[in-house]
Amino acid sequence: MSSQTIQFLQSCRSDDEIDTVRLVDCVIIDAVRSGASDIHIEPWESSVAVRIRLSGVLNELVHLPSDLLPKIVGRLKIMANLIGHETTLPQEGRAPTFEEAGHVVLRISTFPTIRGEKVVIRIFDPRGRSFDLEGLGIEEDTLGVFKGMLSKPTGLILMTGPTGSGKTTVIYAALHHLIERAGPSISVATVEDPVEFNLPLIAQSQCNPAREYTYPIALRSLMRQDPQVIMIGEIRDAETANIAVQAGLTGHLVLSTIHAANTPGVFARMINMGIEPFLLASSIMGIMGTRLVRRNCPVCAEPYQPEDTILRNVPEALRDTAQFMKGVGCAACAHTGFSGRVSVTEMLTVSENLRDAILQKMPTRQLQEIAVGDGLLTLWDKGLRRVMAGETTLEEVLRVIGMEGF
Ligand SMILES: [Zn+2]
Repeated sequence: MSSQTIQFLQSCRSDDEIDTVRLVDCVIIDAVRSGASDIHIEPWESSVAVRIRLSGVLNELVHLPSDLLPKIVGRLKIMANLIGHETTLPQEGRAPTFEEAGHVVLRISTFPTIRGEKVVIRIFDPRGRSFDLEGLGIEEDTLGVFKGMLSKPTGLILMTGPTGSGKTTVIYAALHHLIERAGPSISVATVEDPVEFNLPLIAQSQCNPAREYTYPIALRSLMRQDPQVIMIGEIRDAETANIAVQAGLTGHLVLSTIHAANTPGVFARMINMGIEPFLLASSIMGIMGTRLVRRNCPVCAEPYQPEDTILRNVPEALRDTAQFMKGVGCAACAHTGFSGRVSVTEMLTVSENLRDAILQKMPTRQLQEIAVGDGLLTLWDKGLRRVMAGETTLEEVLRVIGMEGF
């Protein structure tokens, strides 16, 4: 990758000569062109580290002299309409970009640290972002169940997974799928914080907690707007949880995301928010867990043997027959061995057994065992399938999915 940032810095004769406006532009251009999802600008002991997140992993772009930090942060604050002299409190804002950076939208957030402000820039790139449900690479078993649930007029579908695991893309694709199927005869509304992409034929509302336009307030108003399908960006408080469940029980299809360690953990999370187990058991249709793992580079992938300590995690029956594959690194994959990412999902549906267990408020671990007994293929199972198919490495699946719940 030819770096605009490096080229620009080389053209400056001394640190005093560095034009920070151009420097910031160069960093953004480099990040966008390499397909990064985030830029981290962080004051370290003796330099400012500029790193970009590529396929989920942070990579160093450049280190800059420490005294440039205030100027760089100042420039980013101007771009996002933030308060320049406020350096001791976190701030967040959005900034459009210019043609060289593909007109992507940036969400810029600042965070005060003892060495100065750290800035993280999230890049929203509408180009090449597909909201075609079939084109997301979701495994067929998950997709079939998911589409079945989307065809129901009422109930709650929840997504769980860490930031950057593709939850939002899946939800947007689901809404797109509903609109494609029903056209303008269906009323779809969202409440989000923030709205990441504008979708046609959907009423998207952006929360603004600073002006007390919160999830619960937005949702209470929205319920009077006769919606059929409601997307809630995230369930993170009791009132939102309650509205989501009530809406799902009263003739609305509700899609949302929620943070939990794993899919069965969602029940405990909702119960902790004060939702009665019987309401959960009757409103939730399914919970989809998502992760993204890096895909082996098709040009340089070769058979390899994982180390014994890692191999131990694989069931014996699979170990002997498996042909493990790994990218060794080539020009096509910038010597990373990986090219793009592939999704790994699990789909927890509420069976009779599971419903009984939820009503008894059984702990998450037991819910997990019951779900597995009823045929749930966990993220780990699904990740191993990707490994067995040679699509990714065993190490990558362990890194992203680990051995959660096992
Ligand atoms: Zn390669």
